[in-house]
Amino acid sequence: MGKVNTVLGTIATEELGVTAIHEHIGFGLPGCDLDTQWWSKAEEMFETTIQKLQRFREHGGKTFVDCTGIGNGRDIPYFQVLSRKTGVNIVAVTGFVAGDSALPYFRDKSIEYLTNLFVHEITVGIDGTSAKAGAVKVGVSRGGLSELDERIYRAAARAAAKTGVPVITHLSTNAERQMELFEMEGLSIDRAIIGHADIGPDVDEERDVMIAKRGGYVGFDTIGYDAELENAPYWSCGRQERIQHFLSFLEKGYLKNAVISADANCWPLGWPGVEGHSVNYLFEEFIPDLRKAGVDEGIIEQLLVHNPANILTMRAPVFV
Ligand SMILES: [Zn+2]
Repeated sequence: MGKVNTVLGTIATEELGVTAIHEHIGFGLPGCDLDTQWWSKAEEMFETTIQKLQRFREHGGKTFVDCTGIGNGRDIPYFQVLSRKTGVNIVAVTGFVAGDSALPYFRDKSIEYLTNLFVHEITVGIDGTSAKAGAVKVGVSRGGLSELDERIYRAAARAAAKTGVPVITHLSTNAERQMELFEMEGLSIDRAIIGHADIGPDVDEERDVMIAKRGGYVGFDTIGYDAELENAPYWSCGRQERIQHFLSFLEKGYLKNAVISADANCWPLGWPGVEGHSVNYLFEEFIPDLRKAGVDEGIIEQLLVHNPANILTMRAPVFV
């Protein structure tokens, strides 16, 4: 039977259910936790986050993968409280959103050092707790893969290959190089989600097909950052354009290589976030849009249940 690490312990794959594979309880740049202006509303933060997770639960959501790396607001004791209170499984990650959002302390560390750090968080626990990471997060810095990003990618691939957890990437730019780094370090591409393929300026159908052909997962995982929003961020995409892009990928026969998520923050840390956007957009807007386009329930279940289970299930027994 397959297993997945959550902040409240290791669970059976069957317990994952409907899964949002790329989300954030709260993401912020390193240092945000020292800015008291943003931390003055702890009660409101807690209430808002609980409400969003409860709503997620009401929509049938069972598992929330928090893709916030080290130093970006990942807070395991807090995640444990949220999970206990709402009944939502929370999967935490080790790794970094990208090199340019890693704390200075980690920036000059070797591949070996970073590998040991990730393996420790996957097999022993995070921040002194027994909560183990269920995936490794890596990403592309603004402007393209940096030397530090590459070190993090190599370490992530080694740690993932050694422990059996998957890797989830931030951005799908430089996808070919990303996959090359994984393979060079012994990680099979079918253990990776190349994420944020649906960012408006980065849409590239040929790249998506190239990833899928090599067995990788393509993350349509910034769903709901619509260009139509009044406060649309630079990574937004037109609502119809995103749906067309996604449907075109399915039509080419790559359903099993697609994952969907919203990359929303329950409560952004140190930045205003995008008002009104939450993980629940998936259920309230996107899935209804898919149904209107004729997508059947079997496909929706594949996207929300089976594909996340396939990628999250640890490949090898946990390395101790
Ligand atoms: Zn994210």
